[in-house]
Amino acid sequence: MQAPGVYVITGGTRGIGAGVARELAGVPGRALVLGYRSNHERARDVVAELDRPESPVRAVPCDVSDPAQVSDLFAAADEMGSLIAMVNNAGILEQQCTFDQIGPDRWSRILGVNVIGLACCCREAVVRMRGSHLPNRAIVNISSKAAVLGSPNEYVDYAASKAAVDTLTRGLALEVAPHGIRVNSVRPGIIDTEMHATGGDPDRARRLGPQQPLGRAGTVKDVARAVTWLLSPDAAFVTGTTLDVTGGR
Ligand code: NDP
Repeated sequence: MQAPGVYVITGGTRGIGAGVARELAGVPGRALVLGYRSNHERARDVVAELDRPESPVRAVPCDVSDPAQVSDLFAAADEMGSLIAMVNNAGILEQQCTFDQIGPDRWSRILGVNVIGLACCCREAVVRMRGSHLPNRAIVNISSKAAVLGSPNEYVDYAASKAAVDTLTRGLALEVAPHGIRVNSVRPGIIDTEMHATGGDPDRARRLGPQQPLGRAGTVKDVARAVTWLLSPDAAFVTGTTLDVTGGR
């Protein structure tokens, strides 16, 4: 039997990452490797939910800001088959504050995960995909509408990190297009996940949802479906671009 085509998702056991895993799981000949940072029990539960003999799922501890753990994540993927797709979903924000309250340590943490961690994962993925003949190799990076809005008085650091993700996506896409690898980003708007509690605004999705042009906050599924479309052969001529999943915001 042919080795499975492997999909790697960082932060794949919670929120949007787990939603993407649920959309991708269960297809024979496809294996999923889910990076997670901290919560072993949750990782075990997601694997128990999605793992099938014909479409195996494995969770691997991986803090993307640690290059050694990133290497381990991809070594685990290599054991399962040939890499066909990568979703860079892992991302953080910190407490809402004004720009002057954001010191160098916080900048390092935000950029370390959202930009440098993502870049390290892209590099590991591209090295593998360049040497592969699998059809439809693709990377999707999770950005944010904040990249365009700037998030004043809230998370300018986070917004700037996501703008870097979009620019990295564009440059990398053009660089690897001759190898047949597609790279795109998705910019979610306000999505109902645990992330807003981290920012100190747990009710954000409920409060701001009705103000969005489509009259609601987004769901994990809304984003996961856009990601899986970008990974699919239906998006075979789409690269170097950014897809807003914002309900029109
Ligand atoms: P959550 O806070 O629910 O999930 C964040 C995910 O990132 C978790 O799986 C977490 O892993 C993982 N993660 C955080 N830090 C690290 C790290 N250092 N190394 C590896 N994994 C890490 O948020 P969402 O699901 O909402 O966010 C997913 C992505 O979507 C992020 O990139 C976020 O910026 C982006 N986004 C979200 C929006 C929203 O409104 N929710 C809007 C726009 C963009 P673990 O659980 O193991 O800690």
